[in-house]
Amino acid sequence: MDFEKAREEMIRYQIKGRGIRDKRVLSAMSSIPRDKFVLEGEKDNAYLDCPLPIGMSQTISQPFMVALMTQCLSLKGPETVLEVGTGSGYQAAILSKLAKMVYTIERFNALADRAGKIFKELEIKNVKIIVGDGSKGLEEYSPYDGIIVTAGSPEIPGSLIEQLNEKGRIVIPVGNSFSQDLLLGIKEKGKLKTVNHGGCVFVPLVGKYGW
Ligand code: SAM
Repeated sequence: MDFEKAREEMIRYQIKGRGIRDKRVLSAMSSIPRDKFVLEGEKDNAYLDCPLPIGMSQTISQPFMVALMTQCLSLKGPETVLEVGTGSGYQAAILSKLAKMVYTIERFNALADRAGKIFKELEIKNVKIIVGDGSKGLEEYSPYDGIIVTAGSPEIPGSLIEQLNEKGRIVIPVGNSFSQDLLLGIKEKGKLKTVNHGGCVFVPLVGKYGW
């Protein structure tokens, strides 16, 4: 399988073809090998237009959803970002190309360990993985310029809003456990202004301020 060609086609048809225009996002998605983040038996499916299983009943998100959520953060380079839901580590790897520092929190040890090994192999050094309940955020390294939650939540946890910088952005799927709306919130004068970027389906955010 020619992964480079598959990646180019993914960018052309699934990402640019659906309106993603941020050049830095396109470049990051061109440079990160998604095939490294999927399970051995899923390598040939790595660039398909869908989420894929990664073990522990969890998924690596659809490439377009990764691109859309990343574009929503409007990263320019100097930012500190928190990701809730490390999963395979693919989204964090994309963020590592676009921000100064990425903290990513995962509730399953096994997934955090696997992602850590892939970051080592790819020599990604500006991502720190933490195991814990990300619905509470990660106060230790806050405030963040961007927060991305890659699991569906019943609401936007107040803890995450508190840990966001003024003018910071949070992107999060909000809804019930079967379907959500992708919300982008921008913090202005301590309050969040939200825009709805349409329907999506994520595995649930399980934790104190999730399900
Ligand atoms: N961003 C991931 C990637 O690039 O592969 C995909 C994430 S997957 C759709 C959702 C992840 O969120 C799962 O790995 C799940 O274990 C994790 N998760 C769910 N609730 C969580 C919580 N409260 N804290 C941290 N991780 C959580």
